[in-house]
Amino acid sequence: MKKTLIIFLILPFVAFAQSAKGYFDISKDAFYHEKMSSWKKYTYKDVDCKFNTIVDNDSVFTFSAQNKFFQEDYKLTLNKQKKITKIEVFFTVHNGKLDEWFPYKYPINISNLFKDVGTPSETKENISYKPKYGADVSDYLFKKYYKWNNGLFRETKIELEVANGTTKLPVKNKRGKIKSYRTVDFGYMAYTPKGQGTLTENDINFNVSSKISDGAKKIWIKNKRELISLLGLEKFDASNSWVDGQLHPYLFYLEATNDPEEYFKKFFFHANIVYGIEFGDEGLEENQKYTYTSLPDGVLARAIGMDKECCIEILIDLENWNKSTYIDKLFIMYHEFGHDVFELEHSDGIRLMTTNKLDIDGPSVLGEMIHEMFIAVLKKQKGK
Ligand SMILES: [Zn+2]
Repeated sequence: MKKTLIIFLILPFVAFAQSAKGYFDISKDAFYHEKMSSWKKYTYKDVDCKFNTIVDNDSVFTFSAQNKFFQEDYKLTLNKQKKITKIEVFFTVHNGKLDEWFPYKYPINISNLFKDVGTPSETKENISYKPKYGADVSDYLFKKYYKWNNGLFRETKIELEVANGTTKLPVKNKRGKIKSYRTVDFGYMAYTPKGQGTLTENDINFNVSSKISDGAKKIWIKNKRELISLLGLEKFDASNSWVDGQLHPYLFYLEATNDPEEYFKKFFFHANIVYGIEFGDEGLEENQKYTYTSLPDGVLARAIGMDKECCIEILIDLENWNKSTYIDKLFIMYHEFGHDVFELEHSDGIRLMTTNKLDIDGPSVLGEMIHEMFIAVLKKQKGK
């Protein structure tokens, strides 16, 4: 049976206000104490770390945690009013590889994953970076560099940069003189608040994505016990670092909103990496077909590949699609993937599949609905 979806294209526009002041609404001291206490309490509790604070000059404040194997540095750039205008994180591995230490959390993997799944505003390779301040004379080579123009960090609109690469560490002799350098791996992240400016459509879409992410996160936490029993503790921890991480809103964010393949990349990544759902051949690009066309009776999209094991085939009504909002489009595509990939029916009791029109109180509800679908599919796959 072919599945159809009729959508009424009405969604209250969610107004929002965002500060665009060019700095974060946190003082350097508040940020420092918060970070330090979380390092001491959680992150570096058991790995024998030394904690250092260096005030290079009035405009840069640096603090770090270091042990034999790695070092994490935070550099805060301050304006004249001592407000933070940039947060940079350097994670240098003194022994071994970056992804051995932080396989899920740290940029090397995140950026690799986003290369496949996401749509960075900018991608570069092999560029050098030399911090302009203080005693830090290290040269950094960004082997891979990604930038997103629309990010959120603590309710502040930011540019997000993620990179990984190599840098040189001085090797000193007993008298403290540098005798040579050795090359080590590092990861990098930077948050830069955006200055005054007008909001773009992408900014607004990202804000919607963040709210969808909040909804998914809320119900993820609520279902923690069940998720652990389905995924196992180790996989749960890895997935949890995604859901709990700064980049989670990007799972619901697209810049190329009219490219169905982008929706599938998000859907696939989300279902597979976060929820551990297995896919068949329909995950392959050559087994997917999306066609913009004209569908009768106000039908917006139709999953005609539903009965084929191998393939995804979705028809989209161009006129209705062009009238749809960002959240409608996301909903439609996830609903159709639910039919086509997971063979779900309208009668399966899953909110995302039952609904014929997206009539929800706010974007966060869509996040809840997506979570519910994935957990239902996971249970089915695990035979529970
Ligand atoms: Zn349907």
